[in-house]
Amino acid sequence: MNQLTEIDQIFGIDQKSCIRCASCSSIAPTIFHVGDTTAFILRQPLDAEEVNQCEAALGNCPTNAITVTSKSAIGTVARS
Ligand code: SF4
Repeated sequence: MNQLTEIDQIFGIDQKSCIRCASCSSIAPTIFHVGDTTAFILRQPLDAEEVNQCEAALGNCPTNAITVTSKSAIGTVARS
């Protein structure tokens, strides 16, 4: 089974809450990047290991700025 179809989480950052501590980018450097004014998402996780890294980053964010949403819960899965 294609692992891409199994990933239900969409990670995001509440930029108003981010203090640019760089915890997220050190835990999941392929996903999070700290810019000049805030951290941002480079891309969504592609496999289970990256999902685990994102969840670890979420758990370690000191300001709870990292968000996670379920694709199935909001019905955003679209196929062309
Ligand atoms: S861990 Fe949280 S506060 Fe720190 S840079 Fe990442 S999003 Fe911002």
